[in-house]
Amino acid sequence: MITREECAALDAVDPLAAFRKEFALPDGVVYLDGNSLGALPARTPGRVRQVVEEEWGRELIRSWNEAGWFEQPYRLGRRIAPMIGAEPEEVVVCDTTSVNLFKVLTAALRLRPGRRTVLGDGAAFPTDLYIAEGVTALFEGARSVLVAPEELDRHLGGDVAAVVLSHVDYRTGELLDMPGITARVQAAGALMIWDVCHSVGALPVELGAAGADFAVGCTYKYLNGGPGSPAFLYVARRHLAAGPQQPLSGWFGHARPFAFEPGYDPKDGIGRFLTSSPSLLGQAALESSLDVWEQADLAAVRAKSLALTDLFISLVEGLDGIEVATPREHARRGSQVALRHADGYPVVQALIERGVIGDFRAPDLMRFGFTPLYLSHTDVWDAAQQLAEVLESGEWREERFSRRGEVT
Ligand SMILES: *Cc1c(COP(=O)(O)O)cnc(C)c1O
Repeated sequence: MITREECAALDAVDPLAAFRKEFALPDGVVYLDGNSLGALPARTPGRVRQVVEEEWGRELIRSWNEAGWFEQPYRLGRRIAPMIGAEPEEVVVCDTTSVNLFKVLTAALRLRPGRRTVLGDGAAFPTDLYIAEGVTALFEGARSVLVAPEELDRHLGGDVAAVVLSHVDYRTGELLDMPGITARVQAAGALMIWDVCHSVGALPVELGAAGADFAVGCTYKYLNGGPGSPAFLYVARRHLAAGPQQPLSGWFGHARPFAFEPGYDPKDGIGRFLTSSPSLLGQAALESSLDVWEQADLAAVRAKSLALTDLFISLVEGLDGIEVATPREHARRGSQVALRHADGYPVVQALIERGVIGDFRAPDLMRFGFTPLYLSHTDVWDAAQQLAEVLESGEWREERFSRRGEVT
């Protein structure tokens, strides 16, 4: 078994080690929940304060033009584009993942008239399934059908308009074969929509190379944009050229929003997927985080992510009552490790009290996210050690660890 000293030696040669000081993490905490809410970049409070006090407080409405507020959804989209293998004009930042999925899925159904089935993964993050239900309810005869990704091919019939899948499974951390699945879906005449919430910032995502049609993703997980920070959407250039129609035709998607015309005339390009005034404080926090990301090499992030998840798996497998739910093969693993334990909820609460923050997803999964910009090999070693102690001592059986909050 690897020792803590050996982990410290790995940290000493870690090319990403310098990023740790870019994050304002509390002392005594090993934060393994960056896959749910990313940590606070040290530069973000100053940037948000500047936007509030100077751009809003002093410059007031002039900032729409002079501080680049109006342009910001596009600017942020251009900055996220290289992280997801997209062209700068194929991405825009706005709204939330759920709202953006509503927009792109509706646009996809309109691009496939005559086809009425949307396929989704029954084990997907439920908001994606709820949105698919909501969208199909608006199209006569349409329905959303839940299938396991490994059974997708059997369901790819002539009625399938679109398939919605998560690149990385939010529970198990399983990574799907984006190019292979996209090709099979498109060969069946359907459109492929990827949800990259759990892969953006965790590994290099290659939407363009895979030929994806649409994608959505959020920025408050691995991208560290802050709680509720705005999401993004991607539309392949070939679809943009055809003028896809999204249903939330608000004024920010209008070709001339400040002409205040009574009829809707969508912008050319990705801008037609905008709806409303951007949430500028959230976008400011995201932009400061992207300033950090811009210095990071995603290939190095991926290499370290795999090293950290390998390390954690090797240290915890065999612990009493633990079963590793995350695939061992690198090609099938995102940046989190999920462990099954019959009493996962109180075990995670006991760990949190010891300063190791993970989370729990029903019925029995303990989730641990590994964020290479602010975690070290020693952190991983310490977390595994704490988990072993929690299980050995049985302290998780104390009644207070079983009380559940609204958010698990
Ligand atoms: C986190 C997450 C979301 C979040 O949706 P919001 O509408 O932004 O709250 C959606 N889908 C997946 C797969 C997620 O992991």
